[in-house]
Amino acid sequence: MDVVIIGAGVVGLATAWRAAARGAAVTLVDPAPASGASNVAAGMLTPVSELTYGEEPLLRLGLASRERYPSFVAELEELTGHDTGYRADGLLQVAFDADDLASLEDLRRFQESLGIPSEALNGRECRRQEPMLAPGVRGGLLVPQDGSIDPRKLAPALLAAAERSGVTLVRRRAAGIVVERDTAAGVRLDDGTVLRADRTLLAAGPWSGDLEGLPPGLVPPVRPVKGQVIRLRAPVPFLRRSTRGLVRGFPIYLVPRGDGELVVGATQEELGFDTRVTAGGLWELLRDARELVPGVTELEFVEVSAGLRPGSPDNAPVMGPTALPGLVLGTGHFRNGVLLTPVSADVLAAALLDGAVPEVGRPFTPDRFEQRV
Ligand code: FAD
Repeated sequence: MDVVIIGAGVVGLATAWRAAARGAAVTLVDPAPASGASNVAAGMLTPVSELTYGEEPLLRLGLASRERYPSFVAELEELTGHDTGYRADGLLQVAFDADDLASLEDLRRFQESLGIPSEALNGRECRRQEPMLAPGVRGGLLVPQDGSIDPRKLAPALLAAAERSGVTLVRRRAAGIVVERDTAAGVRLDDGTVLRADRTLLAAGPWSGDLEGLPPGLVPPVRPVKGQVIRLRAPVPFLRRSTRGLVRGFPIYLVPRGDGELVVGATQEELGFDTRVTAGGLWELLRDARELVPGVTELEFVEVSAGLRPGSPDNAPVMGPTALPGLVLGTGHFRNGVLLTPVSADVLAAALLDGAVPEVGRPFTPDRFEQRV
C-alpha cells in the first residue's frame, strides 16, 4: 500500500515509522521536518497531572501512551543508536499558597475517584524530594509513574527510524489534497508535483486546515495555541525530576534533562499563527519559576522560543479515517502530542493500513466534528 504523510512533527514521523515497519511504502512530506511544536515542547509525559474534569477519555489515551513509552523508546534507540533523553522518574506537583494547595487537593481527590494513586506530601516532604524548592511551598503530590523525554532528541531519532525502515522524505510543502472520483488520491506539492497514494495522512499540526482540496465539511477543526518556553543551563543535579507548580493560580513547570538543560514553561496564548517571543511571556515564566525555585535566577540563560500547539475544540486529538475515502487525519494533539506519540502512531498506522481504528482511539475519530454538507 502507498501512503503519503503530510507533516513530519512527532505525530507524522512516528506514524511513518510504524506504517513502514508494517510494510507500507511511505512518503513523508515536510519542507522542514520537526520545525513545529515538536521542536519547542518540554516533553513532559504526564497524563495524570493535567487531568481536567470531563477529559477522562483523554486521560485513558494518555495512560495507554505512557505505558507504551518504555518499549517504544527501547525499540527506537536500538534501531537507530540515538539517545532520546527518556526518563521515567516521576513528577512532583507543588502548591505555592493555600488556594493553590486547595486546587491540588481537588485534583488529588479527582484522581483518587478514578483509581489513580498519587502520594500527598507536606511542604517539608516536597523539599526533601527537591531541595531547591522555595521554603514557602505548601505541599504537593508525587506521581511516580510520570516522566519526560527530550523532543529535540526524539524527533531526529524518529526520522532516523523512519528512513531506516524505508520511508522517503520529500522536503517540500504540500499545497493540496488530490481528490479524484470522491476519493483522496494523494498530495499536490507546492511545485505542482503530484504524489499519488492509496492513503493520505494529514498530520501538519495547526496547519492541517490550510490545504487546498479539502471538502468543506472535512477541514480539520484545529487552531494554533501559542506557547513560549525558556531553556536554561543548570548544574547537574539541580532538580531531580520534572516539577510542576501552581503559583497564585498560575501553572508553571520546570523539566530537567540529563545534560543540564532546564526547560521552563509555558505560556498559553490564543494569537493565531504568531510565534514572536515577548518580554511579557519571558517575565511571567521567570517570575513564577523564581517563586517556586529561587535558584533559577542564577542559571545560564540559553534560549526562549515559541511554538504552536494544534488545539481542537475539545482539547483532544482528531485521529482516524474521514468521510472522504483515502483521507486520514492525525492532528489536534494540543498540549499532549509528545506524550501521545506512541499510541497515536499505532492508532494511525492501523487507520491507514487496516482502515479501522483500535478501541483506544475510538473516542477521537474525526466524525465527532464532521459536518454533512
Ligand atoms: P508539529 O510538531 O507542529 O509538526 C507539524 C509539522 O507539519 C511541521 O514540521 C511543519 O513543518 C509541517 N507542515 C506544516 N504545514 C505543512 C505543509 N503544508 N506541508 C508539509 N508539511 C507541513 N506535549 C507533550 O506531550 N508534553 C509537553 O511537555 C509539551 N509541552 C509543550 C510546550 C509548548 C510550548 C508547546 C508549543 C507544545 C507542547 N506540547 C507538549 C505539545 C506538543 O508539542 C504537540 O502536541 C506536538 O508537537 C504536535 O505534534 P505534530 O506532529 O502534530 O505537530
